Amino acid sequence: MASETKTLTASCHCRNVRFTVTIPKTSLPLKIHLCHCTICRYVHGAPCCFHSPLPDGIDLDFIAPSSKDKLTSYTHPSFRSRKWFCRTCGCHIGDSSLTGEVSWTISTSIYDANREDEGVFKVNSHMCPGSTGDGGLSSVFSVVDGHELAMVDLDLPVIASTTTTTTTSAPVPIAEKTAPQQETTRTDEQLLAQCHCGGVSFHISRPRDDFIAGEDSTSWLSPLDKKRWLASMDLCDDCRLTTGTNVIGWMFVPVDHISPPLPSNLLVGSSKAYQSSEDVVRTFCGTCGATVFYWCKDRPHIVDVATGLLRAPEGVMAENWAVWRAGRLAWPENGIRYHEGFARALMEGMERWGRERGHAEEFVIP
Ligand SMILES: [Zn+2]
Ligand SMILES: [Zn+2]
Ligand SMILES: [Zn+2]
Repeated sequence: MASETKTLTASCHCRNVRFTVTIPKTSLPLKIHLCHCTICRYVHGAPCCFHSPLPDGIDLDFIAPSSKDKLTSYTHPSFRSRKWFCRTCGCHIGDSSLTGEVSWTISTSIYDANREDEGVFKVNSHMCPGSTGDGGLSSVFSVVDGHELAMVDLDLPVIASTTTTTTTSAPVPIAEKTAPQQETTRTDEQLLAQCHCGGVSFHISRPRDDFIAGEDSTSWLSPLDKKRWLASMDLCDDCRLTTGTNVIGWMFVPVDHISPPLPSNLLVGSSKAYQSSEDVVRTFCGTCGATVFYWCKDRPHIVDVATGLLRAPEGVMAENWAVWRAGRLAWPENGIRYHEGFARALMEGMERWGRERGHAEEFVIP
């Protein structure tokens, strides 16, 4: 007799968190919602999360030596759930009920097998696109694996975005929802980046004149606009398994354009560090689990800032601050191998979105 259940295995990058869930086949496919709300963005550091509820009563079956002790939990008075992430690598694994019954919503990006085959998963909706300011990835693609995604806006509290200035000169014009204009930029502006709990908080400044005039500007600034930083979406497996989301956005910022000044170990506030490979250090908030920085030995004066933390008033794509490399995402082969339908929707969507909004088709990230 054919099995009545399907067992799925999930793990974080460091594999200290590794578990299975066993689901009745009648509950398949698991419906994935991409949640764009401020909570999900600021706890993950990503443009959105990829969540799917399990049927009530199905618990995580940890594979020894993994156990629930390897996780940190985080909740907040505004939450309807408790969030859990790996205390070693920071990967978000999902949410549990606040009321004690067994009810999990899992980050589907950490399942070993997340393919559209066998009808196990179905990307179903964009949740809370209204809280993004600019639509975020919900305005980049609307069809995955041939399904039109539902747009579901819940009435959630929106955490205000702010840009602060260090002088008392005239206010910055409110960003138009069109391709950003260089004349709206001011060199004294500061862009806030902050995780949900506020334990990690810092400011990014505009490229300074000495940087623009220097040798590095050809590598790290776009000829399209030297007052914005370069940014790219990344589909690599290491990012997926340290963040718990299929995709993360990175903005490439020189360490000396971040304030307060970054210590050499990159640990700001409640940050923790995780070495994901020999030459790469990633940091995340030890309290809420938000991905913060990627740093590698080859270019030590640059950090990649997780764009999900950015509090740009114009929206989550921070278009007044970022020139996105829209024609090419980082590590597309990883994304295609993991979930081809999603990766292709994102790649094709970004290409079109970038062309319409005047972003870069291509540049090389050194
Ligand atoms: Zn881990
Ligand atoms: Zn959410
Ligand atoms: Zn935090």
